[in-house]
Amino acid sequence: MKTAVVAIGGNAILKAGEEASFANQMRNLQSTCAHLARMIRSGYDIVLTHGNGPQVGNILIQNDLARKKLPSMPLDVCVAESQGQLGYMIQQALTEALIKEGVRKVVTCVLTRVIVDPDDPAFEQPTKPVGPFYDGEEVAELKSTHNWDFAIDEKRGGYRRVVPSPRPIGIVEFSGIRRLVFGGENQAEVVIASGGGGIPVVERGGFYTGVEAVVDKDLAAAVLAVKVQEKLFVMLTDVDNAFLDYHSKNPRPLGRTTAAEMREHLERGQFGAGSMAPKVEAALYFLANGGERAIITSTEKIDQALEGRAGTLIVR
Ligand code: ADP
Ligand code: MG
Repeated sequence: MKTAVVAIGGNAILKAGEEASFANQMRNLQSTCAHLARMIRSGYDIVLTHGNGPQVGNILIQNDLARKKLPSMPLDVCVAESQGQLGYMIQQALTEALIKEGVRKVVTCVLTRVIVDPDDPAFEQPTKPVGPFYDGEEVAELKSTHNWDFAIDEKRGGYRRVVPSPRPIGIVEFSGIRRLVFGGENQAEVVIASGGGGIPVVERGGFYTGVEAVVDKDLAAAVLAVKVQEKLFVMLTDVDNAFLDYHSKNPRPLGRTTAAEMREHLERGQFGAGSMAPKVEAALYFLANGGERAIITSTEKIDQALEGRAGTLIVR
């Protein structure tokens, strides 16, 4: 039985500059899902996870535009909403793609909570910009009504709310996800889980409380992969490989490599903060905690990467 956790990036859903319409997002998902369906047809049972940056941003904008008439929902609820809308769209697109491949499987989406540490230093230093741009007057109002933090975006000229991005340490629903994907040949569901990095919660006295934060989707995917005891973790993005000297005239694609080698490159700053670095960190976390193979490649190259003919493969 072949299984994997597969993480798809923002580009698989919405490309830079595209209007965030349902039609555009479905069209992108249909082409992404065609590749995933082939992977599934070739024998993989997968847990699929996805980003939610533009989508949760738009939910926040919708909340903001309506704030004089309707109470805004907290960010954790907005993340949950984005898991619902994207989960549904992926269910539709992937089911159709599977049928075209002659595969009959149910695509099941699990609303997923990700556990973070209430003492994570990220809570002292919110850095992740989310939602709409505001002017100084609105910032003053929102600071007093919501106690939000803001940072100025010099390039785009405006203030944005910033929220903490704590490290994921656990997945509440992992055992159910594991049962769904390891349900046995012909029984296994295709599972969508931990969308947008999961709904962040902290544990206090045996209860989970939602927190206003966002968790990196690649790191959350790695924690999920470890918790469900996967051996293969695939991160699909818009580049075929992780590169060395990425911004130079001579970027060098990494093929098969080891965790130790990747750690050195990471420490030397070879991977972009907030883009490739979290993927490499996620791969290293996975390999240090029972994982065997981590792949970073583009959606288009997935077939070849699984056969070792493309992409960056990181082994222990
Ligand atoms: P996703 O939405 O798939 O997570 P990201 O934009 O977060 O996508 O990460 C992929 C991007 O990382 C690439 O488009 C590329 O611009 C950037 N990147 C930064 N450093 C590197 C590197 N060393 N090798 C490859 N890509 C890199
Ligand atoms: Mg990313």
